[in-house]
Formats: sequence, C-alpha cells, structure tokens
Amino acid sequence: MRILVTDGMDKTAMAQLREMGHEVVEQFYEPDQLGKALRDFDVVVVRSKTKVRAPHIDEAKGSNLKLIIRGGVGVDNIDVKYAEENGIMVRNTPNASSQSVAECALAHMFACARFISIAGAAMRNDIWDKKAYSKGFEVSGKTVGVIGYGRIGQALGKKAQALGMKVLAYDIFKVEGLENENMKYVEMDELLANSDFVSVHTPSIDGKPLINEGTIAKMKDGAVLINTSRGNNVDEAALLAALKSGKLRGAGLDVFAEEPAKNQELIDFPTVSCTPHIGAATVEAQKRIGAEIVDIITNFKA
Ligand code: NAD
Repeated sequence: MRILVTDGMDKTAMAQLREMGHEVVEQFYEPDQLGKALRDFDVVVVRSKTKVRAPHIDEAKGSNLKLIIRGGVGVDNIDVKYAEENGIMVRNTPNASSQSVAECALAHMFACARFISIAGAAMRNDIWDKKAYSKGFEVSGKTVGVIGYGRIGQALGKKAQALGMKVLAYDIFKVEGLENENMKYVEMDELLANSDFVSVHTPSIDGKPLINEGTIAKMKDGAVLINTSRGNNVDEAALLAALKSGKLRGAGLDVFAEEPAKNQELIDFPTVSCTPHIGAATVEAQKRIGAEIVDIITNFKA
C-alpha cells in the first residue's frame, strides 16, 4: 500500500512498514493541498497537526484512500463520521500513551506543589528567591480527584496511590473491581469538594466545559486543577479568575482552548505550570504508537 505520514512517526515502525513492502512517504501538506494529496495514497497517518476535514474527504472520494490512522488518542482533528460515511475507516492508537500522559499530569501536580516551573524560570533570570517558594506542600497524603476514569485516569490513579495519595474518581461508566481503601468512585460534587488536586481525563466535551465557574466554586479552597485532556474541557476565563482570587492555588495545563496557546495572562500566572500539549510526547509512547500503527495496517482488511 502507499502510506502517507504527515506529522511524523517512529522511524523503526516506518522501516518495518517498508520491509513489509509498503511505500511510505513522509510529507506534511498544508490544509489547501491535503485533499488532493490524499488521492495518491491508500492510508494516511496523522498526529494532531494535520486536520482531516470533510472538504479533504470530498476531494479524496473515489480514490484509493481507505484508512485514516490517528497516531494518538483524540480523533477530534478528523471528521470521523463523514470519513466513515464515505467508506474511509478511521483508527487511533488508544493504549499507547496512557502512562506518558498520566506521568505528565503527575509532573504538573509536583510542579504546582513545589513551584518547580516558576522557580526554574526565576533562576534563569538570575533570581535566587528561596523565601518566595518556601511554602510548598507534599503530594503524598493528599487526595486527587480524577474526572474521567478511563485509560489515562486509571493510570494516574494507580501512580497516585503508589505515592500515598487517595483517589476519588468520577466517570459516567463505573469499572467494577477498581475500588479499594484508597480509591473510590464518587459523584462529581463529592469529588470537587474533597480533592486537593482535580485532574481532568475525559474526551473533549463540546458545549459547556466540565470545569467552569460553577464547578470551580464547588472545589476545595486552595485546590489545584490539572488538565492534560483537551483545552475545551476547562473554561480558561473562569480558571484565571479563580487563580486571581486565590480560590485555586494553582493549575497544571498541557492543553489549551486554542493551540498554540494564546491566553498569555493564564500562561504567565505565577502558579500555573504549562507545557505545549506534550502529554504523549515521550520516546516510549511514540514507539508504542508506531507499533500499534504497524498492527493496524497489518490487520487492515478493506
Ligand atoms: P478513555 O476513553 O480511555 O477515557 C475517558 C473516560 O472519560 C472514559 O472512561 C469515559 O467513560 C469518561 N467520560 C466520558 N465523558 C465523561 C463525562 N462527561 N464525565 C465523566 N467521565 C466521562 O480516554 P483516555 O485515553 O484516558 O484519554 C483521556 C483524554 O486524554 C482524552 O481527552 C484524550 O484526548 C486526552 N489525551 C491527551 C493527550 C496529551 O497529549 N495531553 C494524549 C492522549 C490523550
């Protein structure tokens, strides 16, 4: 098959595909060029930069294109329903990055608890201010509320318990057999009222963000919000207001309403720890994503 890789892919996995006899072309296309380019391929592999929208699918209709693979979890950059209605299958690699994203959430928890981000930035500006960063707190013994207890939420839950934390989970589907003395499913309001950290791990929920003025008001005073899911799950204006008023102590954000992030006031806020949507960007996750893509292509039957 002819496979187009638009946003990069693990080199070993690409070599494997070539050894299997596939032709692999690595090339990014601007949105206005993508639809035409897709006509020349059987499979396209994207990450998050390439957006495959209905007009691209219209242009590719009637060609050989039969499979779109998203190397990663969220498929919000692909018009999935429209592709499938037009006979093009869409697959993702849901398992590959859970540990990496959970670790990213944990890293933000530590960063917020100990001023890691802001203290490092200050030192780069030649400021040695022990006093300003002397009121950190320990993560162990604290409670993390995990909203969306799926793959990443559960991975975070396990790691948090290993650190001596208590876990409260809220999910619209409850998985049997996960609860124990340190992990309990609760309703959203109970989670918000009792968590020192609230970490969001649901898919992108369009419409009213899960974390908004109302839900923030129900959170414990001085709690920390972590979002490594999707930017539109958090109302950034409400978050900034809560940080300014002191209702929330800090926030760790890997994802933003608009990406690249433009909300400079939020990014610059001293108790905000930010990363540019790199939750899954680890060597291990990218290797696993590559291996999952090879499996999908190997097992693909048009
Ligand atoms: P998953 O499907 O395994 O888990 C999501 C969970 O959320 C499910 O258990 C589902 O029942 C639950 N859920 C859905 N709607 C809900 C609602 N309204 N309230 C409560 N729970 C709800 O997904 P995952 O692999 O754990 O991914 C979680 C999120 O992380 C997704 O938004 C994904 O796009 C994002 N993600 C981010 C990165 C990154 O780089 N930061 C990387 C991978 C995934």
